[in-house]
Amino acid sequence: MRKDFMPMEKIRVENLFKSFDGVPVLKGIDLTVQEGDVVCLIGASGSGKSTLLRCLNFLEEKDSGTIEISGEAIEPKTHSINKLRRRVGMVFQHFHLFPHKTVLENVTEAPVYVLGMNKKEAEDEGRKLLAKVGLADKAGAYPSSLSGGQQQRVAIARALAMKPEVMLFDEPTSALDPELVGEVLDTMKQLAKEGMTMIIVTHEMNFAREVADYTMFIHEGRIVEQGPSRELFANPQEEPTKAFLKRIL
Ligand code: ADP
Ligand code: MG
Repeated sequence: MRKDFMPMEKIRVENLFKSFDGVPVLKGIDLTVQEGDVVCLIGASGSGKSTLLRCLNFLEEKDSGTIEISGEAIEPKTHSINKLRRRVGMVFQHFHLFPHKTVLENVTEAPVYVLGMNKKEAEDEGRKLLAKVGLADKAGAYPSSLSGGQQQRVAIARALAMKPEVMLFDEPTSALDPELVGEVLDTMKQLAKEGMTMIIVTHEMNFAREVADYTMFIHEGRIVEQGPSRELFANPQEEPTKAFLKRIL
């Protein structure tokens, strides 16, 4: 096959290990995510999902193994982690907005102060992103006046403002009241449709099945099963996957 027809690998992880205080948490993770793919990562509490995302965003330093972003192996010793973090956006369960800044200021803060973007340009871009997440009319509001679903959509806009190559989501709807989950999932669906490469840790199994191209099941620090989402949900092969899905569905 000609190389320019090959889908581009956005993330490749090989044999990733991570322990805390001598206790192994990630025990040899291998995964690849192609450009434009939406991947859901599912698994029980404590199985290592957040640790894996945090390693991919370099919030945690791996013990060993390889992490490649767009074909480039990343080593904290040779790369500027701050620069890298711009390439990998992250959205957390708790939104972590700056409470004393307006919605628009939350979105423009990093482009202006980290990327050195012109303020006017950052604001124009920020307003576009707020419109994209359905919050055009909230630019001047403070986070405390917004619902949890609205705050999470601001957090998504804020991450997008850095123009990341990949977006990581760690249980983005777990802290929300049930009636607010849908608006955040819809925003993520829209991003997926636009071709954003995404890895999403979620307990929203319908979202995983319907929206994710692939689902990976992590069990005790190992990805024990992965495949096209519909296949994995309809026909899990491994015992831990079967047991987990039986419990949760
Ligand atoms: P999950 O997101 O799947 O619930 P985590 O990645 O948060 O799992 O945690 C996996 C394991 O690693 C848990 O046993 C957790 O207590 C442990 N762990 C996570 N972060 C730390 C840390 N910073 N220090 C010590 N132990 C941690
Ligand atoms: Mg977690």
